[in-house]
Amino acid sequence: MKEISCKLLVIGAGPGGYICAIRAGQLGVDTVIVEAGKPGGTCLNVGCIPSKAIIHAADEFQKVSEMAAGKDPLGISLATPAIDLKKTVAWKDGIVGRLNTGVAGLLKKAKVKSVEGWARFRDGKTVEVETETGIQVIRAETIVIATGSTPVELPFLPFGGNVISSTEALALKDVPGALAVVGGGYIGLELGTAFAKMGAKVTVVEALPRILPLYDTELTRPVAKRLEALGVTVLTGAKAKGLSPKGDALLLDAADGKERKIAADRVLVTVGRKPATSGWGLEEIALDMTGPFIKVDDQCRTSMRGVYAIGDVTGEPMLAHRAMAQGEMVAEIVAGNRRNWDKRAIPAVCFTDPEVVTAGLSPEEARQTGIDIKIGQFPFSANGRAMTLQGEAGFVRVVARADNHLVLGIQAVGSGVSELAAAFSLAIEMGARLEDIAGTIHAHPTQSEGFQEAALKALGHALHI
Ligand code: FAD
Ligand code: NAD
Repeated sequence: MKEISCKLLVIGAGPGGYICAIRAGQLGVDTVIVEAGKPGGTCLNVGCIPSKAIIHAADEFQKVSEMAAGKDPLGISLATPAIDLKKTVAWKDGIVGRLNTGVAGLLKKAKVKSVEGWARFRDGKTVEVETETGIQVIRAETIVIATGSTPVELPFLPFGGNVISSTEALALKDVPGALAVVGGGYIGLELGTAFAKMGAKVTVVEALPRILPLYDTELTRPVAKRLEALGVTVLTGAKAKGLSPKGDALLLDAADGKERKIAADRVLVTVGRKPATSGWGLEEIALDMTGPFIKVDDQCRTSMRGVYAIGDVTGEPMLAHRAMAQGEMVAEIVAGNRRNWDKRAIPAVCFTDPEVVTAGLSPEEARQTGIDIKIGQFPFSANGRAMTLQGEAGFVRVVARADNHLVLGIQAVGSGVSELAAAFSLAIEMGARLEDIAGTIHAHPTQSEGFQEAALKALGHALHI
């Protein structure tokens, strides 16, 4: 049995863990990171990056399919296109592979020692790792738990065979003829849209009365409209019950209480993710929990001295950039710097068609604080750049305090609006007022002019509407 000691041990090399280890290494902290799979975690291997690669491929295919169908107003025509999903997936795997190597290289550059294998706590200062060459014992002054999350399985639709999670969906060899998606949240709609664009007959089964329940109806309306245009059937208020005896259909109770059967070659279950809290000795260290998540304070400290937790294992929102920001903060704290969680906003982007971006408070959340608010909304149908990109659906909305015009929240739905997330977060983080956004020159012609116009609208003098 081999033993090593270090100042900082990070368990899990997802975006939370690898950023924490890189920053700690940069700050001169003697750091070890343990990963059972490949560097980059869920995000890089089976999450954010591969899903966006597949979504991009589907967008490209759908564009040329419309051209081939003679539906393209730009005057471009071509013969019937085909998609070879094996090649698409190989291209996606190439991107993932390059990024795996990149993360490993960055860890090395920061002088972080990487250990491959499954880690398990012996006690609050000692971890055992099952490596290919035997058990490695690691003693550390500080340990960061960054074990992430895994897909939620429904007991009546266990994963296996035709019932798949996002991980298998991102590695399919053929586009399914008929795809049933259980759960109309982030993953279900991002991937459901992509498969519909690639030619699958997609049905989304959502238990709640509407899709993307995290967002307000106004924001999700353009997404619902586009799903309809793509031929996706959305069944809301519907509860999946299981597979048909032959395994070729999904059984569900529809909103009207009637049982329905949806023919499906594959059933993609995307009903949320759960924190990865088992199999690594949580019981040995008995940390305080908040529901299923590890409880942390504003420095990501757990209830045990010297043990921190970051990322999906600590709760919502389960987003890669939140995990990274927590990882960076914890590295600074371990290096002796004074830091705590003081972020004003964690932006969220849903890569549907059109995309949805939110930062800060929604109008409803702002109202619930009891503050009087002003709202400015500007439609992309009045934005020149959006017209030239055939992306007139959607809008930008700014929510501000009525008294001093401090911006509380910004939302947008529209084609390509994910890239506006940076401007939205920056405005909120820097404490911008409506006048700051309205008074900033926004380059023409860009969709970002819609942001400036939304602020102007809230001030009562929009120029282009
Ligand atoms: P993870 O990325 O889950 O990494 C945890 C790592 O720890 C894993 O590599 C695991 O192997 C390792 N590990 C666990 N236990 C042990 C152990 N005992 N020993 C050794 N190693 C261990 N988020 C976004 O912000 N934007 C997106 O567009 C987005 N798209 C997504 C699409 C899909 C299909 C999915 C599934 C998720 C998506 N997410 C997205 C969410 C994002 O992937 C997660 O929020 C993020 O990966 C969480 O990072 P993490 O570091 O907490 O954990
Ligand atoms: P989700 O929470 O976004 O959506 C799950 C949906 O399933 C909800 O709408 C819920 O009402 C529904 N649901 C739950 N049980 C159901 C049932 N039995 N039958 C039918 N519907 C049911 O979860 P997800 O889509 O699995 O994604 C998991 C997490 O991954 C997200 O919460 C997010 O944090 C992260 N993610 C982020 C992005 C992004 O940032 N673009 C993309 C993908 C995933």
